[in-house]
Amino acid sequence: MVDFVGAGPGAEDLITVRGMRLLQEADCIIYAGSLVNPGLLSYAGEDCQIYNSAKMHLEEVLAVMERMEAGGKHTVRLHTGDPSLYGAIREQMDALKKRGIPYRICPGVSSFCGAAAALEAEYTLPSVSQSVIITRMEGRTPVPEREKLHLLAQHGATMVLFLSSGMTRQVQEALLQGAYTQETPCAIVYKATWPEERVVRGTVGKLCKLAEENDIARTALIVVGDVLGEDYELSKLYDRHFTTGFRQGVEEPSVSAR
Ligand code: SAH
Repeated sequence: MVDFVGAGPGAEDLITVRGMRLLQEADCIIYAGSLVNPGLLSYAGEDCQIYNSAKMHLEEVLAVMERMEAGGKHTVRLHTGDPSLYGAIREQMDALKKRGIPYRICPGVSSFCGAAAALEAEYTLPSVSQSVIITRMEGRTPVPEREKLHLLAQHGATMVLFLSSGMTRQVQEALLQGAYTQETPCAIVYKATWPEERVVRGTVGKLCKLAEENDIARTALIVVGDVLGEDYELSKLYDRHFTTGFRQGVEEPSVSAR
């Protein structure tokens, strides 16, 4: 059995309880050493074999999983944040399927959630934005034509950019071709939830400068949108007059009912 486990964004206690138990039970852990907090490996048992996948290619990772499975052992494949985002788990799952090796997935707290906490932000504010676009600037990995950043930027929705903090000049340019303006608030969150976490805030017009001045070019998220600003409307959900499936809205007494 192979368990793909989300390690969470960084802080050791932000892995799920299930993820922690799987680490404790594992005979083998293959962890994404470039971003997973090595402190999480302290959950491993004494005899657990540990591999850092930052130094391995896909076939090497699969070979370890195969060898473990042949010996009736349990492997945890530990990915940063939540494995569903830029985790390259699909290719591993398909390869395991082909080899008849069973697998499961344990979700994790993605770094974009860690960044929201660091920013004390609500990504979806009534009348400001009700959508979050998770994307990246094109780098060595191509982005489909219809998802090019300047096109996604046309929505002006809350946007979280992964894998792009080393390309802030291009990001800034693309954002300004869309609905964002020079004055739209943005932030860069470096190593969200790690002890060395840093949050820098600014506006889209100064995004590139912000990254340069603060010397941030990796392990960071760029968050963009008016949800980082001051204006919004109160929610319907907690509006005292609003009726939901769980709560009857309060009717104000009319003048004649005094
Ligand atoms: N699956 C992961 C993302 C992996 S891609 C998740 O759900 O978070 C790697 C990119 O994620 C990094 O380049 C960076 O942009 C971002 N990232 C990962 N951890 C981060 C953290 N703690 N703080 C800020 N950005 C982070």
